[in-house]
Amino acid sequence: MPSDPVHDDLPRVLAPYVRVGVQDATLFLGFGSIRQPVREQKLWEPLLHLADHFRTPHTREEALAHLRATCTADTASAEAAMLLLEHGNCLIPASVYDPADRYSRHALFYELSGTGSEQVQRRLGRVRVTLLGCGGIGSLIAATLATSGIGELVLVDGDHVELSNLTRQFLFTEADIGLPKAEVLARELRRRNSSCRARPMVLDIADTSALELLPGCDLLVVSADSPGLTETVNRHCVTTRTAWLNACYVNDIAVWGPLVIPGTTACWDCRTLTARPPEDDPELATLITRVNGRYQAPSNGPVNMLASSLAALDALRHLGGFGTPASLNRRVGVWSHELALDQQETERDPACPTCTETAPAVGGAR
Ligand SMILES: [Zn+2]
Repeated sequence: MPSDPVHDDLPRVLAPYVRVGVQDATLFLGFGSIRQPVREQKLWEPLLHLADHFRTPHTREEALAHLRATCTADTASAEAAMLLLEHGNCLIPASVYDPADRYSRHALFYELSGTGSEQVQRRLGRVRVTLLGCGGIGSLIAATLATSGIGELVLVDGDHVELSNLTRQFLFTEADIGLPKAEVLARELRRRNSSCRARPMVLDIADTSALELLPGCDLLVVSADSPGLTETVNRHCVTTRTAWLNACYVNDIAVWGPLVIPGTTACWDCRTLTARPPEDDPELATLITRVNGRYQAPSNGPVNMLASSLAALDALRHLGGFGTPASLNRRVGVWSHELALDQQETERDPACPTCTETAPAVGGAR
């Protein structure tokens, strides 16, 4: 989303992600979702002169003076062209882009999203994220967060690497079979970003009392499939006022959300989001539990990647403060066979037995 125009007089440059092209008598300024159509042809020349001038750092006044000296555009057109550049996140501080910096491409993404990249990167470096589950989704989210510069990752999993994991848990190798997933993952993350503190905890996630052993964090990501775990995590996070995000797959559907921010968004219990055995019919509930007892997920690499990438992006948005997480008050599923979106909207229920007393948390990232 384009940001408000800048009004200070600091030198800026044309962002490297800006491209210009003409299609069907319309000039398009920008690229991707911030592309702006410019149909008034008299704006094209001043716009391109300005864009060309901003290939090196200049202030607004310097650029307008350059335009007056080099282009016959009237004052109104010059001002309109300038506003187009300023509205579309096209101009960024000259110091933002250092191609040699490890986070330089992400910095451009944050600027594209309308948020100062230095601020985002600083926030990410200060946060601690706990990953409950280091399998197909958790390990890929962990890799994305670690290489993005998250300060600390707590990796929780009691499982050991198995041969059947290797179709989707790409950070594990055949040589790792039999080793604890959390420890192998920590080793692999350190190899990829030594400044990220990766802290393995080999704990049985199904034992929900293990939650009490976890250190406090800025975000808890759950990608573990254990009966009752989601509800227990939700109660724990509402009580401790910890933001949490669910990421999973429902057979062939990649699912993430809702991102629960206690006191601000709906919690997991504000609306029934999944089908469960009926609480008022024990006999039927027993039969359903027996039938479901033989369930084995058809876990698939691409579907794991889809869920983990979209969840990781929302985690970064929330922690870094750029853009808006897509899973705020929403559980989203991407149908992998049909490329359809399935969205379950949620909102805070004033009568929710879990979160009704929760006040908004103070502050964001530590
Ligand atoms: Zn609730």
